[in-house]
Amino acid sequence: MAGGTNIPSIEAVCDGVRSRQSSAVELVERSLARIASLEPKLNCLHETLKEHALDRAARIDAAIARGEHVGSLAGVPIVVKDNIATSYGTTTCGSRILENFRSPYDATAIERLEREGAIVVGKANCDEFAMGSSTENSAWGPTRNPWDTSRVPGGSSGGSAAAVAAGYAPAALGSDTGGSIRQPAAHCGVVGVKPSYGRVSRYGLVAFGSSLDQIGPFAHSVRDAALVLQAIAGFDPRDSTTAEIDVPDYLAEIDRPVEGLRIGLPRRFTSPDNDPAVNKAVLDAADEYARLGATIVEDIDLPLTDHGISTYYVIAPAEASSNLARFDGIRYGHRAELAPDEDLFDLYARSRAEGFGPEVQRRIMLGTYVLSSGYYDAYYKRALQVRRLIKQEFDAAFAKCHAILGPTAPTPAFPLGGKADPLSMYLCDVYTVNANIAGICALSLPGGFAEVEDQLLPIGIQLQCRAFDEPTLFRVARMFEAAHLQDRLACPVA
Ligand code: GLN
Repeated sequence: MAGGTNIPSIEAVCDGVRSRQSSAVELVERSLARIASLEPKLNCLHETLKEHALDRAARIDAAIARGEHVGSLAGVPIVVKDNIATSYGTTTCGSRILENFRSPYDATAIERLEREGAIVVGKANCDEFAMGSSTENSAWGPTRNPWDTSRVPGGSSGGSAAAVAAGYAPAALGSDTGGSIRQPAAHCGVVGVKPSYGRVSRYGLVAFGSSLDQIGPFAHSVRDAALVLQAIAGFDPRDSTTAEIDVPDYLAEIDRPVEGLRIGLPRRFTSPDNDPAVNKAVLDAADEYARLGATIVEDIDLPLTDHGISTYYVIAPAEASSNLARFDGIRYGHRAELAPDEDLFDLYARSRAEGFGPEVQRRIMLGTYVLSSGYYDAYYKRALQVRRLIKQEFDAAFAKCHAILGPTAPTPAFPLGGKADPLSMYLCDVYTVNANIAGICALSLPGGFAEVEDQLLPIGIQLQCRAFDEPTLFRVARMFEAAHLQDRLACPVA
């Protein structure tokens, strides 16, 4: 079992398919039925890939019947964020500018999932070009949180997180540039992993902030998430930023007790500005780790992480302004109608003004500003310097501990429309951006609940480990999860 709820693990699901006690077609049909019944309420998906999924499922069942080898994810339905290219269906990044865009190829992560037998059942709604923390910036309308449909699921991978929480599929892919996997995982009560920079190929991921972006999994349990990461991780000749470092077996040591491990607990992460339930979840988790035999290390400070938000909101828009220059109304997507006296410049300007939503336009303007001559040194160069210092601070912290514990987000899920000014939205990422800035790995796992207006809302706790130390990250997370399975609640929409 993956939780105190009766959700079977991915390994159990695959065993069932391989031993023909169930079938890939049955799993896909169940997933499609769930999508059909809940989509009108939740809007997790931009597109359901019904025919594609049923066709692939039938092929997998036929391969099993012929006794052929099928992979570690045989028959498992997967939901994929709509900024990850699939050669079937559309890849719109939640943007009008890419309405109806069809990718001619599959992302490497998709190819690898499919090599293991996974079946993509839908493309998940997201904030436009992954810019946002609530999934309200999608051109296709907001996704709603399955725990409370008046609230956001977090973002930008909100559709992926909510889809897993609502039982559309046992796992999903998202992308995380500053928290977009971990923060929605926290708000939807699921596990979400941002792998180390260079661990997963971004070939086929529509670029946002190229020095920050990573693709990663959502799942119900740490073990399931590790299994999905295992499938997608590793060097890819088509993405020169992937590391040529062997991928360890993530499940080999996942159940090894945490006894003897040192877990850092920086005091500043349990700030009085956080919701009290968030701080309680983090401190309870620290007590739990101490009980499980880990040593809690409190003399870790990380003061420069206070500058994470300002650093991130210079670097990410700068990179975005460059990456999004390709959407010019000519090569891709939406093209404006021109009046006879308008020229090529009008075509670019009008296509971009019509195709991009307000948050994306704001980021492009911020990004071009911080890169412009005269401001480059004051903002962009300075942000890169602070980035280096933050990275050094994490290196020093990891000399004292194996993992750092803290909150994923300062509050539980907030109401739709609750953060109208951009700055209050940006501050949702205060605990997540630093892992991207430093290139380390991090995950969010369910750590408890907040009681808000007679409702229980999930709280995520975050663990961070040094770059490429995903085995320790999973092991530490797994121990907490194992001790807390009985506390998990089924998502009420389920
Ligand atoms: N919320 C952050 C932003 O808006 C992070 C987004 C992400 O990780 N893709 O930039």
